[in-house]
Amino acid sequence: AKPKVVVIGGGFGGASAARDLHRGGIDVTLVEASPTYVSCPFSNEVIAGLQPMQAQRFGYEGLARAGIRVVHARAESIDADGRRVSLADGASLPYDRLVLSPGVDLRFDAIPGYDSGAAEVMPHAWKAGAQTELLARQLEAMPDGGTVVMAVPANPYRCPPGPYERASLIAHVLKTRKPGAKLIVLDAKDTFSKQKLFESAWRALYPDQLEYVPLAQGGAVTGVDPASMTVRTDFSEYKADVACIIPPQRAGAIAAIAGVADRSGWCPIDPVTFESRLVPGIHVIGDAAIAGAMPKSAFSANAQAHICAGAVIDLLAGRPPGTPKLINTCYSLVAPGYGISVAGVYHSAGEVLADVEGAGGTSPLDAPASLREQEALYAADWYRTITRQVFG
Ligand code: FAD
Repeated sequence: AKPKVVVIGGGFGGASAARDLHRGGIDVTLVEASPTYVSCPFSNEVIAGLQPMQAQRFGYEGLARAGIRVVHARAESIDADGRRVSLADGASLPYDRLVLSPGVDLRFDAIPGYDSGAAEVMPHAWKAGAQTELLARQLEAMPDGGTVVMAVPANPYRCPPGPYERASLIAHVLKTRKPGAKLIVLDAKDTFSKQKLFESAWRALYPDQLEYVPLAQGGAVTGVDPASMTVRTDFSEYKADVACIIPPQRAGAIAAIAGVADRSGWCPIDPVTFESRLVPGIHVIGDAAIAGAMPKSAFSANAQAHICAGAVIDLLAGRPPGTPKLINTCYSLVAPGYGISVAGVYHSAGEVLADVEGAGGTSPLDAPASLREQEALYAADWYRTITRQVFG
């Protein structure tokens, strides 16, 4: 009989892994809780009214057409010794190896006052869907001269440049549609991805809209009160008309249930096979994994899926897996027609995935408008290509 692999999570990581495993002759079952995937990449554009929400939604018919068995149910528990996954609908799936790509869970215990109820008033919009639409509606309804407050967590979290792309596009909304309105970005750290590029764009485009407060100037949020719409730091209290609070995160809950998450809440893995360092036979990819220098991105999750699936196929065939090189590129829009990017190449250096020195880099700091325009087009092309590859 063919070896059996169960993949939990049908996002950018899991759906990609399921495809490769299926092509490699494995009997694969993809377990995904939701019948529709809602993509986070480009959801900041939805919040700013630059992209319809419909462009974020993907069904699983493409995977089913490719011959992949897709089961829509929540995985509830894992018996790592007996090698079985139990689903919420009572089914139990045996596996020879298990791949987890459950994404992130928001830590509703991290910021005093910010729980799942508070998120209905002060959206995080860090999982795309109803939260994205809520933040878009709130911005649209905000009066002229209003104040938007954003809270950004410390590392690590999903999509390192994502909060700054969001800040840029919210500032664009304020500049073009909300005269006199302001955005205050409260950050729990002092440095961030593509910082020089973002800051130079902010100075040029949004000097009257966007105020950035780093950790050193009191940016760490220490509490929120949705009833009075206030956001507190150790230095100050901010009254918001719209508040977007992005809390700290951890690997999706099934990772802790499986025993593959460590005390940080994330999952240590072997950088060649993505096999858990804590539980043999279980591989972890995407946002949930501790992937060294690789950022938590859809691009990374997809790249890791290819390497992990190849390694799983090799291991099941009794072959030693090869040593991988992985690539990531993250595009951000700072305004319509103004894109910037960062790219990296990674390899396994002993215990961790490390940067390949001298490879990759960011968009040039001094670039003509035509290059920024090109990069905005590349971003849209990337999104079309990856979503077609994964879900098409
Ligand atoms: P996910 O895509 O979150 O998929 C996890 C899946 O697992 C979900 O569908 C979930 O329903 C399912 N699941 C979880 N637990 C269970 C369970 N127990 N049983 C069954 N199913 C389960 N990345 C980029 O590369 N480029 C970008 O431009 C970009 N922009 C972003 C913008 C924003 C605002 C945000 C928030 C993120 C952005 N990202 C971007 C990051 C990207 O969304 C994530 O890194 C990516 O989705 C990670 O893929 P994943 O497979 O690890 O998790």
